[in-house]
Amino acid sequence: MKRAIIYTLVAVMVLLVAGAIGSAASNLTIGCAIYKFDDTFMTGVRNAILGAAEKKAKVDMVDSQNSQPTQNDKIDLFITKRVNALAINPVDRTAAGVIIDKAKRANTPVVFFNREPLPEDMKKWNKVYYVGAKAEQSGTMSGQLLVDYWKAHPEADRNKDGVMQYVMLKGEPGHQDAELRTKYSVKAIEDAGIKVQKVAEDTAMWDRVKGQEKMAAFLAANGDKIEAVLANNDDMALGAIEALKAAGYFKGSKYMPVVGVDATAPALKALEEGTLLGTVLNDAKNQGKATFNLAYVLAQKKVPTKANTGYAITGGKYVWVPYQKITKENMEDAK
Ligand code: BGC
Ligand code: CA
Repeated sequence: MKRAIIYTLVAVMVLLVAGAIGSAASNLTIGCAIYKFDDTFMTGVRNAILGAAEKKAKVDMVDSQNSQPTQNDKIDLFITKRVNALAINPVDRTAAGVIIDKAKRANTPVVFFNREPLPEDMKKWNKVYYVGAKAEQSGTMSGQLLVDYWKAHPEADRNKDGVMQYVMLKGEPGHQDAELRTKYSVKAIEDAGIKVQKVAEDTAMWDRVKGQEKMAAFLAANGDKIEAVLANNDDMALGAIEALKAAGYFKGSKYMPVVGVDATAPALKALEEGTLLGTVLNDAKNQGKATFNLAYVLAQKKVPTKANTGYAITGGKYVWVPYQKITKENMEDAK
């Protein structure tokens, strides 16, 4: 009898201790707002954040539906609920200043990701961090992919004028990745000694359907003048490929070099098929993991370091995840 009671007591204590350990971890909540769920690249980042959080902390993840006022409301709610840290993918990166003011008043640390706040906003408070990738680098790499192709394929200069006639599909205006990829991709081509002529440029807002529509319009207006397609992301590049297919490209010898950025799963499939010429790995897995790791350390009221997050922190505030050039030859690196 006595022994039975002791066993029961021991069992109860073990359960209590286990419960305490378990809840110590799951007690922490990170409030995470995404600019919109319906974005191929951000879906990869979302999954990486949730994967990294498993058994560590609760991530309350919300869709801002591409509206900054909606996101601001969600952030207010997170602060009222007293989340331990915020992980924010702003809709409008210039709205970060207002978000930082709110977070500071509540003493809730914040990690921004993918949409880089302006430097003056980043300086507003010491518990503000950014996880992203150097936009210039992705621009340079996508330009270089076209340079390599142009040099290896003299027939790419269809009108034989020694100039690369290109079209540009731009992401959302004002987004650092749209502005800098546009600028640095063209610069990389010029830096390689190739003359360029912009035949057309328009924003397709990172979107596949819009990419297809804009490319169809470019083809209707300029026909055979176009010799290369630069897209700020893979979704727009894949849309452009659809429009090109409809115009008879990628059948027989009719080819168009198209480059994107992200290395999403459908883009890798297009590389394999030989429609997409190349892309640049935008490392969603590491960006998501770094975002969670920083927020998790901050939620525990600790200062993020390379030792406790696994990522080098530049200037006390920034984690830069490197890009990588991807073609059919090395596409395994992007999986
Ligand atoms: C990606 C795009 C994505 C955008 C969202 C960029 O870094 O390349 O595919 O739509 O981020 O902010
Ligand atoms: Ca030409």
